[in-house]
Amino acid sequence: MNVKNEGYIKDQDVSTIQLVLNVDPETQTLEHLAFLLIISAFIGLLLSLVAGLFLANRALVPIQKSWNKQVEFIADASHELRTPLSVMQTHLELLFRRPNHTIEQESENIYQSLNEVKRMTKLVGNLLTLARSDSSAQLLNKTVFNMGELVDKVANQFEPIFELKELHFTREIESLMCGGDQERLHQLCMILLDNAFKYTPSGESIHISLKKYHHSMTLIVRDTGVGIEAKDLRYVFDRFYRSDKSRARAEGGSGLGLAIAKWIVQAHDGEIKVFSQKNVGTEFHVKIPL
Ligand code: ADP
Repeated sequence: MNVKNEGYIKDQDVSTIQLVLNVDPETQTLEHLAFLLIISAFIGLLLSLVAGLFLANRALVPIQKSWNKQVEFIADASHELRTPLSVMQTHLELLFRRPNHTIEQESENIYQSLNEVKRMTKLVGNLLTLARSDSSAQLLNKTVFNMGELVDKVANQFEPIFELKELHFTREIESLMCGGDQERLHQLCMILLDNAFKYTPSGESIHISLKKYHHSMTLIVRDTGVGIEAKDLRYVFDRFYRSDKSRARAEGGSGLGLAIAKWIVQAHDGEIKVFSQKNVGTEFHVKIPL
């Protein structure tokens, strides 16, 4: 230590103090700390990786679901299109086998082929409707019109074919002004009455009603037909779902009608419900705000 004293330093005043301090524990603590920091950084990285993966997977679930649905839809659509095509091919090949036959002699094959063409035209139309509804490109053309008159018109169209099948048909239709897409609501009535017709055996009855209920209209189509099993009820609005595939195909159904009906109702901010009991009958309730 240097001590300044009146401008000069006295040598005998200078002394050295040596301090010996043991810093081993601090060094050790610092080493531990560094080790702990590395380990916790590593664990943090690992945890954030796992959490990231978990969250990404969770976020991907709806995308994965809609992708699977899309793939399923395309597979079902291709299958549905392939069936009429192969039936048509078989009937047309049969025509070639007997080139000398007249049209009259081959009328059965021609009739069957035409039937398949009709089925395919309907199917492609339905597929287009659903594809447009998915892409939100299908805008509704809403106008104000009398829903009672529309339901009456559709009921009149069905009356002769109900009579032919000896179905007892009744209606209770109120005159109701509503704002909606006339063409789509016409399609909705057609789908519900067509199903009632397809799945109700001769001698049974079908009833349609349209009533005002608070600020909504309720459309009910009821039949005493084959009914739907309880296990199938929750799927009937799914695309391509048919509770009895062979019967539905024999009736010309492809399982898209109710999916379209549901879309039409939802596009009008309404709801559609089904109540059914096997071998007793089925009831469709549609409620749309006026
Ligand atoms: P489809 O073109 O096959 O009739 P839908 O989507 O209209 O297709 O109906 C789906 C399925 O719901 C039908 O295959 C049928 O099994 C059942 N279903 C619909 N309406 C009725 C009904 N009124 N009575 C009994 N079953 C019905």
